[in-house]
Amino acid sequence: MLRSVILAASRNKWVERRVETTPISRGLVKRFVAGTTTADAVAATRALVDDGLLVTLDYLGEDTFNTAQAEHTRDEYFKLLTALNADGLTHAAEVSVKLTALGLLFDPEGAYLNAKAICDAAAEVGTTVTVDMEDHTVTDATLDIVNRLREDHPWAGAVLQAYLRRTEGDCKEFAGPGSRVRLCKGAYKEPESVAYQARLDVDRSYVRCINALMNGQGTPMLATHDPRLIEIAKDRAKWFDRDKDSFEFQMLYGIRPAEQKKLAAEGHKVRVYIPYGDEWYGYLMRRLAERPANMAFFLRGVASK
Ligand code: FAD
Repeated sequence: MLRSVILAASRNKWVERRVETTPISRGLVKRFVAGTTTADAVAATRALVDDGLLVTLDYLGEDTFNTAQAEHTRDEYFKLLTALNADGLTHAAEVSVKLTALGLLFDPEGAYLNAKAICDAAAEVGTTVTVDMEDHTVTDATLDIVNRLREDHPWAGAVLQAYLRRTEGDCKEFAGPGSRVRLCKGAYKEPESVAYQARLDVDRSYVRCINALMNGQGTPMLATHDPRLIEIAKDRAKWFDRDKDSFEFQMLYGIRPAEQKKLAAEGHKVRVYIPYGDEWYGYLMRRLAERPANMAFFLRGVASK
């Protein structure tokens, strides 16, 4: 219930304006978002890489309504890739892109071309790109574009969401040689017709998807903070006879940082997803929806304003 309210608020402009002017939100933003500029993103990357972690960076720019905004987002990625290369970080840092931020909702072909341009720029500096997954209305369009990107760049990563009923099948389809698939639970409010609603059903689907990916020939990228699923993934890696460097764990910036380092110290590849940029509101609200304890902290701050 609380999760639904927060996710609804994530699309509400009135709430957004109020949240942006609340001092408490600045503290939370700092915890989950690396900053607003390319320099902030590179500095956060450097700190994590020095701790033995890998990174994927997301420029936050979700509500894109015209070509100029989509091209602005694309150009921010060019700037970021250049800066990562200048700092010698591209061996450990890649980028994550959202196709709606690149124009998917009003110009799918333009979104593909923008994503392709980012992949070309990433290839030039020796790194990779993962295409984030958004709500179920764009799943097919997103996967179609990932498939097209993979024609030139076989390493282009897809994201699959365990809460969708279709995902076990998608995992089998995307687990071929060279593929890179990030498996997450899913962060959007989705109808029962397409998504499991109960946590247990989502977790069970996640485990079936781990099996499908570990049994395949690609690189599974297991994006979860859930301790139980992390242990199951370690167990399945052994079962499917996988080396530690043939798969990754992934977590979000600011969430379970001690666990991130612990897994890396055990010899696992651990990639941290770093969001940065001005458009942090939708991202912050999705993180709050995942964790009522964070929400209580936040509401106290808004109420005392
Ligand atoms: P949960 O059941 O939410 O959490 C398990 C445990 O993790 C909790 O009990 C708690 O201990 C800890 N935890 C979780 N969240 C928090 C928090 N906010 N604060 C503090 N502790 C917390 N979703 C998409 O829909 N599309 C994407 O492209 C996408 N990309 C992602 C990339 C990465 C690297 C990661 C890690 C997640 C991504 N997600 C994406 C979000 C994902 O779908 C989930 O919403 C999110 O990861 C929470 O699910 P969980 O597996 O961590 O499990």
